[in-house]
Amino acid sequence: MKNRMMEIATTIGGPAVIAEAEIDELRMMMRGTLLCAGQPGYDEARIIFNGMFDRRPALIALCRGVADVIDAVRFASRRRLLTAVRGGGHSVAGASMCDDGLVIDLSQMNSVAVDHKRRVARVQGGATWADVDRETQAFGLATPGGIVSHTGIAGLTLSGGIGWLRNKYGLSCDNLVSAEVVTADGEVLTANADENADLLWALRGGGGAFGVVTSFEFSLHPVGPMVAVVFAMYPMAATRDVLKQWREWVGSAPEEATSEIAMWTAPSAQSLPSSVHDREVVIAAGVYAGDPQEGMRVLQPLREFGTHLGEIAGQIPFRIVQRAFDPFFPNTGEVISYWKSLYLNDLNDAAIEIMADCAEKRSSPSTMVFVQHLGGAVRRVRPDETAFAVRDADFVMNFMGNWSDARETPRHVAWVREAWNRLAPHSTGVVYLNYLGREERDANTLAQASFGANYDRLVQIKAKYDPANLFRLNHSIKGD
Ligand SMILES: Cc1cc2nc3c(=O)[nH]c(=O)nc-3n(C[C@H](O)[C@H](O)[C@H](O)COP(=O)(O)OP(=O)(O)OC[C@H]3O[C@@H](n4cnc5c(N)ncnc54)[C@H](O)[C@@H]3O)c2cc1C
Repeated sequence: MKNRMMEIATTIGGPAVIAEAEIDELRMMMRGTLLCAGQPGYDEARIIFNGMFDRRPALIALCRGVADVIDAVRFASRRRLLTAVRGGGHSVAGASMCDDGLVIDLSQMNSVAVDHKRRVARVQGGATWADVDRETQAFGLATPGGIVSHTGIAGLTLSGGIGWLRNKYGLSCDNLVSAEVVTADGEVLTANADENADLLWALRGGGGAFGVVTSFEFSLHPVGPMVAVVFAMYPMAATRDVLKQWREWVGSAPEEATSEIAMWTAPSAQSLPSSVHDREVVIAAGVYAGDPQEGMRVLQPLREFGTHLGEIAGQIPFRIVQRAFDPFFPNTGEVISYWKSLYLNDLNDAAIEIMADCAEKRSSPSTMVFVQHLGGAVRRVRPDETAFAVRDADFVMNFMGNWSDARETPRHVAWVREAWNRLAPHSTGVVYLNYLGREERDANTLAQASFGANYDRLVQIKAKYDPANLFRLNHSIKGD
C-alpha cells in the first residue's frame, strides 16, 4: 500500500513532508489524542479565546500527561516544526494557535494538588484559575491569579500575572517557586531555587519561550473564604472626578487593598444591579485581602466618589469575586479582542483627560478602558530578581478593544491604536506583555522594552534551553 504523506509547516522554510505512518506512531504512543483536520474534535480544539484568530494547525496534540508532552516536543523538535503551546488559550495575540503547524495542547492537564501544611499548590500546565481557586479555597488559601477565572494559569504566570491579590502577595510569577519543564530536546527539568535556578528566573515573567511547563508550584497564602469587595458604578460623565479621587485614595491605601478602575458600558447582566444595565459607567473596584470587616471600612471611600448609579459591595466569597468578570468575557471564541497597555508612573491630569475622552469615544460598548494600581508586594521585588522587570510603575492601564463583528475589526483596532498613541507620551512607553494583542510591526521592540535590562539575560537562557528557537510563538526572545 502506498504510504500517504502530510505537509506540516516548519521554522526553516518549506513544509516538512511526513509519512502518515510516523504520525500514527505518535498517535499510538499518546495517552491523549492527536487530531488533524476533519477529525471529530478538531474544530473545537482549535478555538481559542480571541475570535480574531481562525487558525488551522496540521496537528493538535491533546496531551494527557508529561509523557505525551515529551513525545510531542520530540516529534516537533526533530523536524523543526512550527509549534504552538496551548495552556488556557487566552493569549490576546493568538500565540497558542498556529496555521499548518503542531499545537501542543495542555488543556486536559488541569489537576491541582494542595499541600496545605507546606502552603504550596502543584498545578498542571493546562489548568485555569477556576481550577486553582476551587482547590486552594477548600483550605482557606489562595495564590495571586487573574481576574477572569477561565484564563490559563500558564500564560498568565509566565508573563507576570496581575490580579486581586497583587498588592498584598505580589504577581503570579512572584509566587512561582518551582516548575517542571519539558525543554526543546524533550528532557524533563525541574526549575527551582536549587536546580536550574536560571530557568526558574526566566519563567518568572519571561514568557513561554523556554519549554513546555507541565506543572507549576505556587506558594499559597491565607485568603478568605470571605473577602471585602466594592464595585461602585458611577456615570461615565464622572470619570475625571472619580479618577482624581481614586488617585489620592490608592496613594495611601494599605497593601491589603487592591484596586482598579474600569470605564465601560455595563451589560444587562443578572449579576449587575438593574440601575446600571446598558449604561456607560466608570467602576471603582477594590478587594481587600485581610479581615473583611476592616476591609469594608478601608474600601468605603470607593463608594463615596460621588453619587453612584449602583454597586456591589459587601463580604463575598473569594471564589465568587474571582469569577465576577467571567460573564463579560465569554470563553466561546466569539469575542474579537485587540488590547494594548501602558505603564504609568503617575496618573497626572493630562493622562486622566485622555483616558476619559477615549472612554467616551470607545468604538464598541464591550471595549473597556481599564486602570490597575500597582503597589506593595509588586514593587518590593527588585527588577532583576525575576525576569518580570517593571517594578516601579504605579499604574498599568489597558485599552481593551472587544467586539464581535469581524467586518468591523479595522475600526476597533484603529480606536485602540489611536488611544494608545495619545496616552503614550504620559506613560513609561512600556507595555504589559500579557495585555498585548496582535502586533504587526513593533512586537519585538515592545517585548524588549518590557524586559528592560533583563532582556540580555533572557537571550542567554534562551540559547541554553532552546537554541533552535522551537518555542518562538511568544513574546520574542531572540532565537535563530
Ligand atoms: C478574558 C481575559 C482575562 C484576562 N485577565 C488577566 C488578568 O486578570 N491578569 C493578567 O495578568 N492577565 C490577564 N489576561 C491576559 C492573560 O494573562 C494572557 O492572555 C495569558 O497569555 C493567558 O494565559 P493562557 O494560558 O490562558 O494562554 P495561552 O493562549 O494558552 O498561552 C499564552 C502564551 O503562553 C504560552 N504557554 C501556554 N501554556 C504554556 C505552558 N504550559 N508552558 C509554556 N508555555 C505556555 C503559549 O505558547 C502562549 O505563548 C487576560 C486575558 C483574557 C483573554
